[in-house]
Amino acid sequence: MADPKEITNKKLQGKVAIVTGGASGIGEGTARKFALHGVRAVVIADVQDEKGQNVAASIGSDRSIYIHCDVTDEDQVKSLIESTVRIYGRLDIMFSNAGVGSAGEQTVLELDLAMYDRVMAVNARGMAASVKHAARAMVEGGVRGSIVCTASVTASMGSAKFADYTMSKHAVLGLMRSASVQLGAYGIRVNCVSPGSVTTPLLRSSFKAGAVAEEEDVGMLVESSLRLKVGKTISVENIADGVVFLASDDSEFVTGHNLVVDGGFISRIT
Ligand code: NAD
Repeated sequence: MADPKEITNKKLQGKVAIVTGGASGIGEGTARKFALHGVRAVVIADVQDEKGQNVAASIGSDRSIYIHCDVTDEDQVKSLIESTVRIYGRLDIMFSNAGVGSAGEQTVLELDLAMYDRVMAVNARGMAASVKHAARAMVEGGVRGSIVCTASVTASMGSAKFADYTMSKHAVLGLMRSASVQLGAYGIRVNCVSPGSVTTPLLRSSFKAGAVAEEEDVGMLVESSLRLKVGKTISVENIADGVVFLASDDSEFVTGHNLVVDGGFISRIT
């Protein structure tokens, strides 16, 4: 882990944060960046217990704990947030990030509704439960907090292969926009970060499910789509930087916004 002293302009000093899906990929990288930015505590919530415990331990037991939470179970989400408030006294930042990819190629012609239910249960319903209970804790605690949801570039465009995933991420934008309107009166901000392709376990499994089987093909696809504008591929840290901005007071007048971090991918014509 990088030395916390490397970041001199710490943007999240003293804040208490939760990261769902914090055991891996974007969630893990963002939890680590939250720590570098001086959070008082970052709670790692996930279903991968061993990985989540390792992430929390490597951040440091004085500043991070792991709590098992399956976001498809509203009682577990409620309990995650109640435990956080009981232990740390408040909740300032909710990074609602847990998500799954398509379990297989899902064009509308072949849509498997059982798979659709599974993807929607995590990516849409789980996101709604997380935003609901985080917002309630912030309102009850009088905290002018920040909620950041992970959407995707697929929330802003159609997908050739993954109809179920794309629908679930459009739902995240609808949730975020409604919540930002409804929670503004409490001083609570709600925004999305929309990553382009970042090589994480989720991306690799989605491309495999979509019959792009070889690892090199994943790399090629990612690079060909992202080298276009910025000359390198997107990293987890690039997404985490966007989340830190939305979580911090630097964005105090930003709400209802979808921050796309994709190297210009959705702006291109060909
Ligand atoms: P990842 O697989 O590395 O991380 C996802 C995490 O979510 C895992 O740790 C997983 O265990 C957890 N999770 C899955 N189901 C859960 C549940 N029911 N309850 C709690 N935790 C659960 O993948 P990632 O790429 O880091 O994905 C993070 C988010 O970013 C997801 O919402 C994903 O849709 C989104 N996203 C990823 C990309 C990309 O290219 N990697 C692009 C756009 C959006």
